[in-house]
Amino acid sequence: PRPIDVLASALEETRDQRDRIEVGDAVVHWFKCDLRTKDNKALDTASETAKEKGVPLVAMYIVSPQDFEAHLTAPVRVDFILRTLEVLKEELAMLDIPLYVETVEKRKTIPDRIMELLKEWNARHLFANLEYEVDELRREAELVRSCLENGVAFDVMADTCIVSPGELTSGTGKQYSVYTPWFRAWIAYIHEHNDVLDLFGPPSKNPSSARKRFSKIFDSKIPSAPSNKKITDEEKTRFKSMWPPGEAEAHSRLSKFLDDRARKYDETRNFPFAATTSCLSAHFAAGTLSTRTAVRAARSYNSTTKLNGGNQGLQTWISEVAWRDFYRHVLAHWPYVCMNKPFKPEYTNITWEYNDEHFAAWCSGQTGYPIVDAAMRQLNHCGYMHNRCRMIAASFLAKHLLLDWRMGERYFMEHLVDGDFASNNGGWGFSASTGVDPQPYFRIFNPLLQSERFDKEGEYIRKWVPELRGVGGNAIHDPYERGAGREAKKGGYPERIVRHKESRERCLARYKEGLGRG
Ligand code: FAD
Repeated sequence: PRPIDVLASALEETRDQRDRIEVGDAVVHWFKCDLRTKDNKALDTASETAKEKGVPLVAMYIVSPQDFEAHLTAPVRVDFILRTLEVLKEELAMLDIPLYVETVEKRKTIPDRIMELLKEWNARHLFANLEYEVDELRREAELVRSCLENGVAFDVMADTCIVSPGELTSGTGKQYSVYTPWFRAWIAYIHEHNDVLDLFGPPSKNPSSARKRFSKIFDSKIPSAPSNKKITDEEKTRFKSMWPPGEAEAHSRLSKFLDDRARKYDETRNFPFAATTSCLSAHFAAGTLSTRTAVRAARSYNSTTKLNGGNQGLQTWISEVAWRDFYRHVLAHWPYVCMNKPFKPEYTNITWEYNDEHFAAWCSGQTGYPIVDAAMRQLNHCGYMHNRCRMIAASFLAKHLLLDWRMGERYFMEHLVDGDFASNNGGWGFSASTGVDPQPYFRIFNPLLQSERFDKEGEYIRKWVPELRGVGGNAIHDPYERGAGREAKKGGYPERIVRHKESRERCLARYKEGLGRG
């Protein structure tokens, strides 16, 4: 059975017993990737339960170095999460809600530690939002049952998607594996079930006695980054200015985007130099903003309540946000994508190169393809890369270098502030043609044409590849072949590590051969 079904059965089978459990002296919300107070289903339900029973709400977050390691969480993302927790702690404190944050070294001891904390607070009702990664689903299913053995009701709620996986099936009852019909069904579902865009309220204020009872938690500090995710002081300062944390910041970023850029998103989103996209992905990943809030806000800027009508920019942006739901739907239904397997089994037989020099050149932005190098350097510096460039860099790794796409997928996760397993795996599967609804394998991005089309004046390249700042005109896209070799060499810029035409042919032959063996 799929892990999502195992969790659903655990919740279903234990419902009556869980309903009978008395609430104790506190209700607990366990924060994970939902670090916000507004529009948070489990937090809202926990708060309502606490209010109804007249007991305080306690919030908790577990910092797990082993979880960070297992999920390849980038240090920049860990830093963003910890800074977000500081803001969240203050916001919750204004409502007299304590936020307890503890580092638990051994991942497998997390459930026991949670149980100890619940005992300490005499809390018998635990709430959390559901995550779709296999490990999390399995852990939560076990926890639902083990909590019950300890007289604790654990409620896991579907909150992260606007339309939960499982709600949308094709006419023949199958799960969609192609985005376009899935998206049509997604829109139709939302129009039919308008309440899926209703927002959950922020938690109520705790009884004032909570201040005294949990004074130790109120006075406690957010732990610093675990030793496996430490960053330098310089990085700390850089990331702090690039990625301001918190829910209020996410909301103000959203409003600014909707005010200034969203209406033109359709025409401008592919140009990586200008600030044309929302840059909200770090917030969606940390959960400081829900996609429900974002889509609802975008709809309110439109002249129609139809998600597929009115302004084209707003429509396109909503359809991009929907990709996030789509890839979660893929994860829930085909959990083997979590296990290093391509979505399409026939792609298992492609023979990849494992060329360390090529991989090192790709990682450090030294491939001799300026657009690829600019993209990789943006990632290394900011923990972020523009979507068009993610596609170019990923396609280059898988198709031009024929490196195993999983090496690139891993590198992205280890460096992205918005690292999100489902979206990253989906994006890599798309670019390497191994995933769900991918780019056909014979469609191989020509990095030079992509560069000329989307960074025509070379502004993005000049920003991230300073060695080429002196190169003028069209030569910026391919300096050694367009008469700017001397300047490029002088600046220390490398020559191309592979040639486009030969790489393309090699790739076509290799994919064909692998698929033939399938
Ligand atoms: P906007 O253009 O403003 O879009 C709004 C939101 O829609 C994004 O914040 C994001 O949540 C969602 N979105 C947009 N495009 C996609 C998409 N193709 N797939 C899924 N969601 C999308 N996105 C991540 O959030 N985390 C990742 O780890 C990630 N890895 C990627 C890897 C590859 C190889 C590729 C091709 C794409 C990846 N994406 C990932 C998707 C996309 O590149 C980023 O979401 C986007 O660049 C974030 O910038 P933004 O917030 O300005 O996006």
